[in-house]
Amino acid sequence: MQRRLGKKVLFCTSAMAVWCEAAGGVRGVVLDISGVLYDSGGGGGVPISGSTDAVKRIKESGLKLRFCTNETQATREKFVAKLQTMGFDIAVGEVIAPAPAACRILKERGLRPHLLVHDGLLPEFDQIDQSNPNCVIIGDAAENFSYENMNRAFQLLMQLEKPLLFSLGRGRYYKETDGLKIDVGVYMKALEYACDIQAEVVGKPANAFFLSALTSMGLEPHQAIMIGDDLVNDVGGAQQCGMKGVQVRTGKYRPSDEQHPTVKADGYVDNLAQAVDILLEHLNK
Ligand SMILES: [Mg+2]
Repeated sequence: MQRRLGKKVLFCTSAMAVWCEAAGGVRGVVLDISGVLYDSGGGGGVPISGSTDAVKRIKESGLKLRFCTNETQATREKFVAKLQTMGFDIAVGEVIAPAPAACRILKERGLRPHLLVHDGLLPEFDQIDQSNPNCVIIGDAAENFSYENMNRAFQLLMQLEKPLLFSLGRGRYYKETDGLKIDVGVYMKALEYACDIQAEVVGKPANAFFLSALTSMGLEPHQAIMIGDDLVNDVGGAQQCGMKGVQVRTGKYRPSDEQHPTVKADGYVDNLAQAVDILLEHLNK
């Protein structure tokens, strides 16, 4: 099937067909950030070609837009400021991130956390009582995932009558400009195994996380589409929630994702720019 968009010609291949047809009813877009907008890494990372313009085009189209990230190496404010420097039209209020969501849960349940997180994330928890901890929170702590720190988290959990572990995301790995990096999910699994417990995930792929993005746009799941580079956590999580999920072939994407045994994306696109081409072509049809 051939689609025309200005001077561009889009071919709606079978891999795109399912969501091509659904794109017409879409009222809002949820975008993953790392691996979709930019690749993180030394010096702050680099934007993915065409993505700054793609974000601009979504906003100009009148579609609602939220950014749903599992980023936990920096506060939301610092993270957004970095993306703005790269040229992205993005505001703090448009970003759904795990740390603020975790703070809400801690306050609701009267919990005091022991934090095993990146130093850059600590300011997010400034207003939270951390004395005499009764739960553990882990994020993408990177260099802070030492044996000593992991063992301290383990010991604390084992001292609790009911060990309570929160994990800010559960990704296996992500991609930086110099290669793939182990993510928080690996350490979450280690603590789960050591303590024989199950962590509560705050962030993608938890349903509540996607729902908070939808609620802030005032949309139902079937009216929104998620675009991400993580097949299980972005695409699979969004689909569980009732949204369509499209995978970009940038960031951590690997060709084997397209033969995954349990998660099948509603579509695959080369990059965000191509996803936006297709979305805008089908909008209101
Ligand atoms: Mg990503």
